[in-house]
Amino acid sequence: MTMLMTEEQKMATDGLRKVLDNEIEPKLRAHGEGFIPKEMLKGFVKTLTEYGLIKAPFPERWGGLGLDWVTHLLLWEEVGVSSIDLALPILINVSGADLLIRNAPEHIKEKYVPGLLSGDLFIGIGISEPDAGSDVAAARTRAVRDGDDWIINGEKTWISNGEHMDIFICTCKTAEGELTHILVDMTTSGIEVRGIKKMALNGQSTAQVFFGDVRVPVSNTIGELGSGLKNTLVTFERARCHMAAWGYSIARRSMEESIKYSQERFQHGKLIAGHQLIADKIADMATKIDASRLLTLRAATMIDHGIRCDKECAMAKWYSTEMAVKVCRDAVQIHGGNGVTKEYIVERLAREAIIGTIPDGTTEIQKLLIARSLTGIQAFR
Ligand SMILES: Cc1cc2nc3c(=O)[nH]c(=O)nc-3n(C[C@H](O)[C@H](O)[C@H](O)COP(=O)(O)OP(=O)(O)OC[C@H]3O[C@@H](n4cnc5c(N)ncnc54)[C@H](O)[C@@H]3O)c2cc1C
Repeated sequence: MTMLMTEEQKMATDGLRKVLDNEIEPKLRAHGEGFIPKEMLKGFVKTLTEYGLIKAPFPERWGGLGLDWVTHLLLWEEVGVSSIDLALPILINVSGADLLIRNAPEHIKEKYVPGLLSGDLFIGIGISEPDAGSDVAAARTRAVRDGDDWIINGEKTWISNGEHMDIFICTCKTAEGELTHILVDMTTSGIEVRGIKKMALNGQSTAQVFFGDVRVPVSNTIGELGSGLKNTLVTFERARCHMAAWGYSIARRSMEESIKYSQERFQHGKLIAGHQLIADKIADMATKIDASRLLTLRAATMIDHGIRCDKECAMAKWYSTEMAVKVCRDAVQIHGGNGVTKEYIVERLAREAIIGTIPDGTTEIQKLLIARSLTGIQAFR
């Protein structure tokens, strides 16, 4: 990796690594896997913004640093190596701020984007519903015009940042076949949020959000009427690069832990690193992690050059997240019995890896997208 980094990127990631190792990770370990309360999360996130997180890829006008997506992903990888619970809220703020900067009216950008980049505000993005998962076009949450307001009724689910978010970009059906993004202030009456317990990542929030006659000004409409799906596709490019980085960041941590363990654990009269079947696993991990990162940074470079890259992002997302499942599982194997105990982080990483193959389009959906772009034949409908 070093050969691809500029001096500035190297300094930025080294500085961030230090604060993660010395300050943030010990606090997170002491906290355990339980839900991270909003004020505590905000404290961590605000510290990370001092090292360029959230701000890096955005224009200075909105409180950003005017850097590029590659630099941002290099930084985000470091957070993922320490904690996906912490990296995920950052990913959602980045995706939400990006969507607003590209599509929202000026008064919305001015009101919310600086707070999202500084970590003072949290955002959520809602597409999924109980009956609309991979089939995003099936969303049914309805927004009906009433004078200068929308009245929203329906249910969103799997909303990352759900219990922490101050604002929510809700994908609503505004007419038959017309999906539109509407920004909802979470203090508005008629909204209920319920957290969802998962196999891992319970430090961050994933939630159901219920809307009962929620009144939102029409001026909170993001983009043109009916542009919700089109605008979501561009957001997916950025989000899928992060999901890919989720995969290789936890795989990297699993590999680093495995290398350390294999250099300390003796069996059959030698360090297990000296057993060829263990060496094979380590070599496999290192190669696949680098391949994942290269796929992802290629996509990020295309984004930096303004080139659409749905196919490249889909390749990075499925490959990296599936790779992480295998690498993190191998890390448990290298740790033997210790690998399934709570004493060793590889147990937790193996659970976190399995989740990564689902959000922002499952592995199956990524492959359908790649094949469609190669064959020109639609596999959906
Ligand atoms: C931790 C987490 C965080 C999330 N965060 C958010 C969020 O912030 N906002 C949001 O809107 N959503 C979010 N999601 C939802 C996520 O995007 C969906 O779970 C995902 O798109 C899959 O939808 P589904 O769960 O309904 O599964 P389904 O769509 O019901 O899929 C079930 C299975 O069928 C397969 N399948 C579906 N269609 C096809 C097809 N045409 N061909 C082949 N196989 C197919 C899928 O790949 C999967 O294996 C999150 C999910 C998780 C787990």
